[in-house]
Amino acid sequence: MPEGAEALCPALRLIGRASLPLGRLYEGHVNALRLVLRHGGPAQAEAAARDARQGLLFAVWNTDAAGDPPLGFTGGVLQGGKVLCSGAGWVARALVTSRATPEAPPQMLLVPLRPGEGADLSPWTAQGMRASATGRMTLTGLPAAPLGQPGDYLRQPDFSAGAWRFAAVQCGGVEAVLGVLRAHLARSGRGGDPHQAARLGQAAIAAETARLWVESAAARAEAATPPAETAAYVNLARLAVERAALDVLELAQRSVGLAAFLRPDPLERVARDLATYLRQPAPDRALGEAAATVLGAAAEPGDLWC
Ligand SMILES: Cc1cc2nc3c(=O)[nH]c(=O)nc-3n(C[C@H](O)[C@H](O)[C@H](O)COP(=O)(O)OP(=O)(O)OC[C@H]3O[C@@H](n4cnc5c(N)ncnc54)[C@H](O)[C@@H]3O)c2cc1C
Repeated sequence: MPEGAEALCPALRLIGRASLPLGRLYEGHVNALRLVLRHGGPAQAEAAARDARQGLLFAVWNTDAAGDPPLGFTGGVLQGGKVLCSGAGWVARALVTSRATPEAPPQMLLVPLRPGEGADLSPWTAQGMRASATGRMTLTGLPAAPLGQPGDYLRQPDFSAGAWRFAAVQCGGVEAVLGVLRAHLARSGRGGDPHQAARLGQAAIAAETARLWVESAAARAEAATPPAETAAYVNLARLAVERAALDVLELAQRSVGLAAFLRPDPLERVARDLATYLRQPAPDRALGEAAATVLGAAAEPGDLWC
């Protein structure tokens, strides 16, 4: 596995296993730093590295509120805000996207923030991921610095292939559910029951499937494989992880029963965090694009990804 992914993949998985909200924050931090290092000038890269070493939290905030105009940027100052911003109130360096019109390519901008500035967590009414401090950010009047060129944010294969990182965090969540299920069966003495054993075995298969997909996707995404193939493979990987997660959630909830939904059972929290964090952009499109790559490929099915 290429150098960066070799360390990052298990880090994302292990953090996700311990806490999915923390994994979400760390994944955003890594994504922002990566984009700065890839598209920023030497001074921006140096400043970001220094800030990160000093413990400042970075994030990528790309989502505009439905129905609102996109975040504006004129005269070096922002106009508007973003929604679904993880780490709102805690992030010190936000990488946001701005568009002159809804159809224009997005321009990345770096925004320095003070603690709590512009943050509103009240719109986050989701059942899970509360500790990710995901909310609305009002950025009007704040200065920002352009990063890279318009459209760089969407540059492929990085844009699609970066999905391996949230899939790695989700994979950690799957492992957390498996761990709680196993502990429950051991504690309750029900693990020897053939139905319970079968579900635990199926959950173990799903968790390992997720891990194998993620590791393979990470290696491809960070290596110099052709862009279309990389994006297709990572798209398949993220959906394989989603499927594994949905299966493991169902198996664990059936095995544990009502307690799985009662606070403070550990399964209750990790299950709602995982169910919420599984919701990532455009899963249908990801599958459709991957299927189109498979359809157009000349290789035999078994050699598609060799
Ligand atoms: C905990 C958490 C933290 C987040 N933090 C951040 C953050 O820090 N920064 C940030 O920018 N974002 C963040 N997000 C937002 C995230 O990146 C996704 O944008 C969001 O979760 C996707 O929501 P959705 O399921 O409604 O996606 P959608 O893409 O709207 O998908 C919903 C369904 O609609 C389908 N669909 C999508 N488009 C179409 C279409 N055109 N026509 C028909 N069907 C369609 C999809 O395939 C899917 O079935 C966060 C999300 C979560 C859950």
